[in-house]
Amino acid sequence: MVKALVLHERDEGIEQAFEDLDESRLKERLPDGDVTVRVQYTTLNYKDGMVLNGLGRLVRSYPHIPGIDFAGEVEESDNPDYKPGDKVVLTGWRVGEAHWGGYAEKARVKGKWLVPLPDGLTAQRAMALGTAGFTAMLAVMALEEHGLKPAKDEQVLVTGAAGGVGSVATAVLANLGYNVAAVTGRAETHDYLRDLGATEIIDRAELNEPSKKPLEAERWAACVDAVGGAMLGRVLGQMAYGRAVAAVGLAGGPEVKTTVLPFLLRGVNLLGIDSVMCPTDRRLTAWKRLAKEMPQDKLDEATQTAKLEDLPRLGKEILEGKVRGRTVVEV
Ligand code: NDP
Repeated sequence: MVKALVLHERDEGIEQAFEDLDESRLKERLPDGDVTVRVQYTTLNYKDGMVLNGLGRLVRSYPHIPGIDFAGEVEESDNPDYKPGDKVVLTGWRVGEAHWGGYAEKARVKGKWLVPLPDGLTAQRAMALGTAGFTAMLAVMALEEHGLKPAKDEQVLVTGAAGGVGSVATAVLANLGYNVAAVTGRAETHDYLRDLGATEIIDRAELNEPSKKPLEAERWAACVDAVGGAMLGRVLGQMAYGRAVAAVGLAGGPEVKTTVLPFLLRGVNLLGIDSVMCPTDRRLTAWKRLAKEMPQDKLDEATQTAKLEDLPRLGKEILEGKVRGRTVVEV
């Protein structure tokens, strides 16, 4: 039997239940899935909060097992790339949304969705990074490919900085030598963000209101944006000439109010970051870099641990912007 957090769709909404499922049910769901993984760690991401609460129409079929990422050991494999005992990590590919995910003792997935546990990371730390950390690195890579380099007199902005994506982006960028300005709505996270390496803290309220002017003073050399919404519109008008924003998230809402002027008059670029369907070679690069470039002491500082039983409560808290940094769930 496999213990899992199972979601059911009821007239009153989504019901969350801890159940013991027969393992054959995992195979019924994904008969052609190559690999059964014994899940050791999973995590809580913003999207997990949405799935746990039935938001965003991310799940179309119930009963459903959420959990968009996990790390563990291969138990059974029909895929030549993996054998029992291999340590693996999964993020994305709509696992935990369209496919059953990691909030269970075992998961059955296609072998091509897995990556080997990166050298230098334990399964626990791989999940401390998880989808959020992996995506933060994809954003850093996109900004670098657009020409970003550390410069003494320039600042890189990170929005939603005390969240999962924001915490890893802040620590990685600071470690790479960037001056990081961290936007947060939580005064109690200022010391935490400075410990991660931010050199300036900006109050969310300062950037959450639309500006009356489409272009403001040029302020940022780059931005990793986990918030979207009004804040992204505002930041676009503050970008320095020719620079780029990596659009990662929508914690502040999906609708962006802007004009085309930042793009036309300042050559600003908006780089879309998707972690879900990211090709495997880019995944491997991002994980390799995370193992080297995310300082592990900072990662530990940004991580809280939880149990499967805590997920219903935490799933609500992350949507309310109350979860700091990353949450690893020991399964
Ligand atoms: P978290 O909840 O951990 O972080 C989001 C942070 O955004 C919060 O901690 C808070 O930071 C800030 N925030 C929350 N609500 C608001 C608001 N109304 N206005 C302004 N700021 C707000 O989530 P994650 O880090 O896991 O994910 C962040 C975003 O990135 C989500 O939208 C998620 O869906 C998206 N995402 C996208 C991926 C992709 O592939 N593109 C992959 C992973 C995540 P603070 O308290 O510091 O202000």
